[in-house]
Amino acid sequence: MQLTLRLAHLYPDHMNVYGDRGNIIALRQRCQRRHIVLEVIPVNPGDTVDWQTTDLAFFGGGQDSGQALIASDLIERQGPGLRAAIAADLVVLAICGGYQLLGHYFLTHTGERLPGLGVLDVYTIAGKRRMIGNIVIEVDLGKGPWQLVGFENHSGRTFHGPGVQPLGRVLVGYGDNGQDRKGGAIYRNTFGCYLHGALLPKNPQLTDHLIELALRRRYGTQVELAPLPAERELTAQRVMVQRLLSRR
Ligand code: GLN
Repeated sequence: MQLTLRLAHLYPDHMNVYGDRGNIIALRQRCQRRHIVLEVIPVNPGDTVDWQTTDLAFFGGGQDSGQALIASDLIERQGPGLRAAIAADLVVLAICGGYQLLGHYFLTHTGERLPGLGVLDVYTIAGKRRMIGNIVIEVDLGKGPWQLVGFENHSGRTFHGPGVQPLGRVLVGYGDNGQDRKGGAIYRNTFGCYLHGALLPKNPQLTDHLIELALRRRYGTQVELAPLPAERELTAQRVMVQRLLSRR
C-alpha cells in the first residue's frame, strides 16, 4: 500500500523566516526515505483547503508585518475548518510568529492587537528586548527525555494558560517568555514553539514523532513508522547541546 500524507503549508510567502521552510524539507526527506509520499499544499490568502483530507500543517515564523497581513485570512477563511481539524488531531507544527497566531492574541510593540486562532491557550505580548540566541529545551515525547536544540529570535513573550502542556523545559535560552522556563506548547497533536534553526533538520526525533502521529491518524495504529538512522543529525545535536550546556 502506498502511504501518502498531505501537508498544508500555511502562508509560505508571508511566514518564512530563518529557514523555517527547512522543516518541510526535513519532513519530506524522512518520509521519502521510508517510501511515504508527502504532498505539500501551499496555502496563500484566499485559498480554500480541504482540512478533512489534510494530515499535517506547518506554520512558520514571520515579521509582525507579515503576521498582520494574514491574520484575518487565517481566522475568517481557514478558522472553522482548521479549528475542527485540530480538535480531530490534525498534526500541526507552528514556529514563532505562527505559534503566536495559534494563541488567543499577539499584542505588538506598536499596540496593535492581532487576534489569533485561539486553539492554543496562550497569549503573546511584545517586549522591549528581543530574545535572540541558541536554545535548548528538555522534552519527553513519550520515549524518555532528550534535548531539543534550535535558535530563537522574538520580541513576543508568550504566556501559557491551563489548556496547554509545555513542550518542554528551557535549559539554555529564553524560551516562551524569559521568565518561567516554559519552551513551547502542546495541545492534542498541535505543537508550537520559538525554535527556528530550522527546527526539524536539527531534531530528527521530533520530525519522526510528527510523521508517526500523522500516519497513525490517517492509517490506524497498526501502521509502524519504519526505523531510519539519523546519525549525523544526532551527532550534530549532541555536540551543540553539550557546547551550550557547558557554557551555562
Ligand atoms: N514578530 C514576532 C516576534 O518578534 C515573531 C518573530 C518571528 O517569527 N521570528 O515576536
